[in-house]
Amino acid sequence: EVLVRTDQVGRTYSQGKTPVVALSSATCAILPGARIALMGPSGGGKSTLLHLLAGLDTPTSGSITWPMLGARETLRPLKIGLVFQVPSLLAPLTVVENVEIPLLLGQGSTEKARAAALDALDRIGLRSIGEKLPEELSGGQAQRVAVARALATYPKLLLADEPTGQLDHPTAQQLFDVLLESLEGTETALVVATHDRIVAERMNTIWHMHHGLLEVQA
Ligand code: ADP
Ligand code: ADP
Repeated sequence: EVLVRTDQVGRTYSQGKTPVVALSSATCAILPGARIALMGPSGGGKSTLLHLLAGLDTPTSGSITWPMLGARETLRPLKIGLVFQVPSLLAPLTVVENVEIPLLLGQGSTEKARAAALDALDRIGLRSIGEKLPEELSGGQAQRVAVARALATYPKLLLADEPTGQLDHPTAQQLFDVLLESLEGTETALVVATHDRIVAERMNTIWHMHHGLLEVQA
């Protein structure tokens, strides 16, 4: 039932003169429906942990398993949605085309991908701007499109790294409201790295990170 599990995971960066221990001996498990806030000072290791959970980076010690993927590692982009601090939409593509990107990795037809992308925009309240280009969007809208893109495949796990970090307070609140609403009634687990207490208090679990140490509490 566990979506992802880490066992004594460490990550040391060693391209500089002195190695940097970004994460040491992190052990955790993420269950369906989890709402976890990762909090702690900048440099504490939050991004490093999220990258490892996403499979974007590999640990230098310990192990990570994704029981939800079984042997089909190639399914990872469909099962794990990612949102970063900046929306990173592709500039030449329209909003709906951007949201289609992960769907095109699946096995459905292009028609199905389009329908699912429009559905994801609906869920996030942005269907009416599907034909716009990223440069025409406000910062808050662009980040909502990034959320729609991450949710388009109905991932089992959504990982968000400071998703509201670039937004003013009301816009940040609105983005988070829409994100939580769109997850309501689903089993999608959410892990969000945030400095925002108000965001963290709306989750049901807070994990603290500092100096690469993860403090997990139930
Ligand atoms: P947080 O997300 O909590 O701010 P990070 O995971 O980004 O923390 O960083 C943890 C530590 O690892 C910091 O000391 C940071 O400078 C270092 N670090 C992160 N990425 C790299 C990298 N690519 N190369 C070298 N050091 C890195
Ligand atoms: P965050 O906003 O989560 O704290 P950072 O601003 O620390 O993230 O890092 C942004 C990017 O730079 C990440 O991809 C991280 O891996 C990389 N990075 C962070 N610290 C270092 C470092 N000391 N050397 C090289 N890359 C780093």
